[in-house]
Amino acid sequence: MNAPLRQSHLRCINCSLPSEHVVVYVGRIVSEVQCTNCGARTRLDVREEYLPDLGERIKSKPKRVWRRLLASPLALMRSLPGHLLTKPLRMLREMWLVWRR
Ligand SMILES: [Zn+2]
Repeated sequence: MNAPLRQSHLRCINCSLPSEHVVVYVGRIVSEVQCTNCGARTRLDVREEYLPDLGERIKSKPKRVWRRLLASPLALMRSLPGHLLTKPLRMLREMWLVWRR
């Protein structure tokens, strides 16, 4: 669940139509849902849940990297430099999504 954006088919609470929604994640937590039909955006206050989730992600990172290394070492070696370079920006984006108001 690393992708910060996902598409889901939901019923909108604003226009009441079943439509595609863009779902924004911070880590493993949904922080925002936007209807692609009417543009209505629902932001969720995830400040309390974010730091415990971040802690769990940090603790489980070595195991997840090992799992990826064993499953596909070449793919990991190809993607690792880019992921390491962009990680600070991705973390800043996550924190901005959590604490903006
Ligand atoms: Zn809508």
